Amino acid sequence: MTDTKTVDLDWNNLGFAYMDLPYRYRAYWKDGEWHKAGLVEDSSITINEGSPIIHYGQGCFEGMKAYRCKDGSVNLFRPDQNAARMQRSCQRLLMPEVPTEMFVDALKQVVRANQAYIPPYGTGGTLYLRPYMIGVGENIGVHPATEYIFSVFAMPVGNYFKGGLTPTNFLAADYDRAAHKGTGQSKVGGNYAASLLPGDIAHKRGFSDCIYLDPIEHKKIEEVGSANFFGITRDGKFVTPKSPSILPSVTKYSLLYLAEHNLGMETEETDIYIDQLDHLAEAGACGTAAVISPIGGFQVGDKFHVFYSETEVGPVTKKLYDELTGIQFGDRPAPEGWIVKVPLD
Ligand SMILES: *Cc1c(COP(=O)(O)O)cnc(C)c1O
Repeated sequence: MTDTKTVDLDWNNLGFAYMDLPYRYRAYWKDGEWHKAGLVEDSSITINEGSPIIHYGQGCFEGMKAYRCKDGSVNLFRPDQNAARMQRSCQRLLMPEVPTEMFVDALKQVVRANQAYIPPYGTGGTLYLRPYMIGVGENIGVHPATEYIFSVFAMPVGNYFKGGLTPTNFLAADYDRAAHKGTGQSKVGGNYAASLLPGDIAHKRGFSDCIYLDPIEHKKIEEVGSANFFGITRDGKFVTPKSPSILPSVTKYSLLYLAEHNLGMETEETDIYIDQLDHLAEAGACGTAAVISPIGGFQVGDKFHVFYSETEVGPVTKKLYDELTGIQFGDRPAPEGWIVKVPLD
């Protein structure tokens, strides 16, 4: 039994808010190598005013969670997948890569150092981890930085969408978050800056968030705010859109695997047209922060389409949720290599 001493927080009512925890990981890249890698206590960073991250958005990030298990141990979920995705984001923005081993070691160090802030098993809370890299240094021209900072910080979180497994409603966006061959498949800040206005419009109209359509024709579903979309067809198939402007969600690819191997379903990455939604019996958003959030209704122009129900989660969505979270919290057997234990004190 691991000692699970924790600080005093309202674990059952955590939102998704920044918290200044005692430790974060930092590493500095200069002259072709990472330097001074390790834990620090200072939550602020000082950078030169000419830094490319400030003017040209040369930066990327990741989002993942540490899960407290029943026996007190702590799980990371597929951290190698996040390491690989960050490497791809870095390639797209001409930034140096963080090797997978260094990335996973950084996560473990941050979780271990802040372990008193990992929400207890059974509260539904997790320790959210935010790795990021920024291009810094004196550099006002439009070219890549010569220096970079890689950092990982953490904060305890609850559900991202307020409802949890209660369905919420979404609005089709009039704007795109990314271009067809732009940076949609990279986890970069620019996509998020572009999403603030359509997100705000959706919130002001009483929706949970907006749903982005394909940037070429605006006829197909792409993303649900900052989560991926999945549907369950009336004949029981798990479907999810395929497009180069979608961020490849680790959660989505995990659900594709679990739907096929653990639930015996057919699966397909395919086009999901907004004028053919009737063939979907259920729909949901998936991502590390969103976990699985059922989509109740979807407003497209003046049409309001309800998938399964505006108040109840559908049976297949619920099964997928139980399977995924069961694996993440260590209650169900995980496919080979999905769970990485964090060594604690
Ligand atoms: C991070 C992110 C997701 C979810 O990816 P996960 O790996 O499942 O957390 C989905 N869409 C966008 C735009 C994202 O940035």
